[in-house]
Amino acid sequence: MTEISNFHSHTTYCDGRESAETMLLAAIGKGLRAYGFSGHSHTGFEPWTMDAERAARYRAEVLRLREKYCGEIEVYLGVEQDLYSDAPTDGYDFVIGSTHNIIVNGEYRAVDSKSAADTVAELFGGDWYAFAADYFAAHSTVARVMRCDIAGHFDLPTKYNEGSAQFDETDARYMTAAVDAMREILKDCNLFEVNTGAMFSLKRSVPYPAPALLRELRARGGEVIISSDAHSPDAIGYRFRETEDLLRECGFRYRKTLSAQGFVDVKL
Ligand SMILES: [Zn+2]
Ligand SMILES: [Zn+2]
Repeated sequence: MTEISNFHSHTTYCDGRESAETMLLAAIGKGLRAYGFSGHSHTGFEPWTMDAERAARYRAEVLRLREKYCGEIEVYLGVEQDLYSDAPTDGYDFVIGSTHNIIVNGEYRAVDSKSAADTVAELFGGDWYAFAADYFAAHSTVARVMRCDIAGHFDLPTKYNEGSAQFDETDARYMTAAVDAMREILKDCNLFEVNTGAMFSLKRSVPYPAPALLRELRARGGEVIISSDAHSPDAIGYRFRETEDLLRECGFRYRKTLSAQGFVDVKL
């Protein structure tokens, strides 16, 4: 591995467990070249997102850390912008576009929570494929709506699906919805994150997106950036080396990283 960097991370400004400085010191300790913060943009329905006042303090703190640790690590100020966020994305170094909810009967329902199983049972008659199709239909618009730099955790409904516990990811109904969304996102955003967050938190065996979708992405000319989605210091860089191996197996020759020159290639 030639360089390690991570551009998806959270702090106590949103739903992370530690302060921004503690996270950055951990990144420095692990030898990262560059580190990006990506606090959750505000939505009116999730308490763990940053309202305007909190976002202002978050931005000031990340910029303070950039100065304080200049020469030790490159620091980037990003945001994980929710599809349904009402907050502006101006002034950030990068924007991750993520969909955490679907709207059913006018209500926001979480995709990446254990409560998704209740949603599927109560509102989709137990049909995970219909639930996933609704998610992908929403997420397919993420890059058009917000012009994100990075498309976030693409197949988020698989969070609790290790070992096909909830549905079959090879089912044509699932793959068709996923690939249709991928095609739409690629029109406006070519860079997808390969997110090891659930590999850390739930000991999942594969990242988002799963290998079959990574192969689809590669076939369609998409590019990748590896990220931790770290909510605690020990998640930073988690299983990045194995993820690079997986990307090679899926046909990728390069991954992207963020530098002072913008997004640049790193050979895999
Ligand atoms: Zn997210
Ligand atoms: Zn995140």
